[in-house]
Amino acid sequence: MEADRCVSCGLCLPHCPTYRITLSEADSPRGRINLMSGVASGRIPMNSRFVKHIDSCLTCRSCEAVCPNQVAYGQLVDKARAMITTSQFSTLKDETIFHKSWLRLFIENELIAKPKRFDALRPLLFLYQKLGLQALLNKSGLLKKTKFSILNKQLPYIYIPRTSSNKTSLTKSWSKIYSPTGTPRGEVGLFLGCVARLADVTTLNDSIYALNRLGYTVHVPPMQTCCGAIHQHGGDSITAIQLAQKNVAAFNELNLNAIITTNSGCGTQLAKYHSDFSARIMDISKFLETTDGWKNIRIAPSSNKIMVHDPCTLRNVLHSSEHPYTLLSRIPEAQVIPLPGNDQCCGAAGTYFLDQPVMAKALLDDKIAALNNRDLRFLVTSNIGCSMHISSMLQNLDSKIEVLHPVSLLVRQMKT
Ligand code: SF4
Ligand code: SF4
Repeated sequence: MEADRCVSCGLCLPHCPTYRITLSEADSPRGRINLMSGVASGRIPMNSRFVKHIDSCLTCRSCEAVCPNQVAYGQLVDKARAMITTSQFSTLKDETIFHKSWLRLFIENELIAKPKRFDALRPLLFLYQKLGLQALLNKSGLLKKTKFSILNKQLPYIYIPRTSSNKTSLTKSWSKIYSPTGTPRGEVGLFLGCVARLADVTTLNDSIYALNRLGYTVHVPPMQTCCGAIHQHGGDSITAIQLAQKNVAAFNELNLNAIITTNSGCGTQLAKYHSDFSARIMDISKFLETTDGWKNIRIAPSSNKIMVHDPCTLRNVLHSSEHPYTLLSRIPEAQVIPLPGNDQCCGAAGTYFLDQPVMAKALLDDKIAALNNRDLRFLVTSNIGCSMHISSMLQNLDSKIEVLHPVSLLVRQMKT
């Protein structure tokens, strides 16, 4: 059993964000592994305390990245959550447990698993913002400290997808094909994601722009769906598998050089699909950094200080965190520096910020403190969840720091 590979050395403990905050062994990787083996072997019961400690794990996998015995902690915690989801233990009805709130279940099953509904929501949310209702509701305090209040604060400015004819319309979604504007170099697919297709349209539009300028035809298969990460980490592996099958069918009918992801969380999940599919998955920063075609593209200089936030999935699982730095170094005069404390999760962690707001806020406070730099103009991150989590707090503080994807910053200089 994978948990038996843990030799209890404790080297992972200082790297675990939840252990750093609570200093409780049960909130550390070693403690959680012990709890999981205890429950799996029947030595200890599956009760509310067990669920609480497993739920409070961010699945950031910092522990896995430093473990000398290569314990596959991510797999273990996914299995433990699947066990909790399928268990019928009466103790799990204990009201102190919030394994999955109804709001989280609604978001997971009715929106994330059916991401085209985000396209239908776009015009409504666009008007909601244009009419000032989002700001009004935030100011009114009507939502108090509910989960709706967190969501309302995190909702970023809604943009409209660019179509292949360069027209934008509130009622139109993505085109199937975007043709290259540079010397033809190949064909790639673009993975939209679920939340990102609503909340990170700028990054997706900018990625299409950069890929087209470099000579790539960009395919956006309409039948693609959510990657399944939220379901997988939430203990619903059946839905995760169904979503994976839909994505494989949507992309496999095309002859593509690569399938591009703009969100590190989706990239991590897609890279776990079967090998033929996962071999073609590539993060946009890595793809752009390693492709030819830059020689004839002018990038305007910018002497702004840019801090880079490394999302846990890009750093600990995809091991690709160096690529946004190298990509941004294409901007002449740019000062690209890492955000201090990049080895610690920001607390967004999928839907974690909704169900564990106290821990999520404590981790976010550390990030905001690390951003306390007078000359800082931009914070870049390759994960929309982290971006929304950090931006909402910066807006609250009236900060001038803009949070965006590294590709959007680069494309801004390409268009200047
Ligand atoms: S998970 Fe790895 S690093 Fe952590 S205690 Fe076990 S063996 Fe040591
Ligand atoms: S995944 Fe992250 S939060 Fe969970 S035990 Fe490992 S280091 Fe701690």
